Amino acid sequence: MRMLIMGAPGAGKGTMASIIKEFYHIPHISTGDMFREAMKISSPVGLTAKQYIEKGELVPDEVTIRLVEERLREEDAQHGFLFDGFPRTLSQAQALDTILSLQNVKLDVVVDMRIDRDLLIKRLSGRRVCSQCNANYHIENLKPKVEGICDRCGSPLIQRKDDTEETIHHRLAVYEENTLPLIAYYEAKGLVVAAKGYGNTYQSFCEIEPILGAMHDYNQK
Ligand code: ADP
Ligand code: ZN
Repeated sequence: MRMLIMGAPGAGKGTMASIIKEFYHIPHISTGDMFREAMKISSPVGLTAKQYIEKGELVPDEVTIRLVEERLREEDAQHGFLFDGFPRTLSQAQALDTILSLQNVKLDVVVDMRIDRDLLIKRLSGRRVCSQCNANYHIENLKPKVEGICDRCGSPLIQRKDDTEETIHHRLAVYEENTLPLIAYYEAKGLVVAAKGYGNTYQSFCEIEPILGAMHDYNQK
């Protein structure tokens, strides 16, 4: 299964992605997580990315595309993948098409997480993430058992620098300008399946799963 998950920042891509990857046994490739890992170890990619990410800007296409190209060569991505946060621009989408066609494979489906703008802002400003394992929490809706501590690994929770109110508005504008048009790009290819980005994520997965399965089967023929 070769999939993309799209949606505004805060639309619940991460939560949906973890359900999808378990269900289909495919690697979850989040360019945001890859950049944050690179920033932690201050690699050249990390140092470049940091300047953009902290301002809520997109990392330049060349850097992002190269990172993804390398990731797609790894063994675990040969039989499927789920991209989260990539592509975010038309050139990234076109680059992905080229990479896949060179491998003689195609995307099966693009899941588009849909949600109201008000809810997005509430979600992002209350979001906390684990400083070690990237698990997501929310100060109201998804509290950890012990305040400020990750349930999974016991490390402190932090607020991402790009989750402050001002940066959030900027990220939403960047999303609307650069990434939203990609939905039309994939709609023209007949690949888009809309999923609810609110309510119970597992339930919203169950609603779309039969369609995802059918699209995959169809592409295999
Ligand atoms: P969110 O979906 O919450 O905005 P991500 O973790 O996907 O967060 O991305 C965080 C930041 O990393 C983005 O705001 C952007 O600066 C950078 N980034 C991630 N993926 C890409 C991409 N495909 N192209 C350019 N920049 C990216
Ligand atoms: Zn953790």
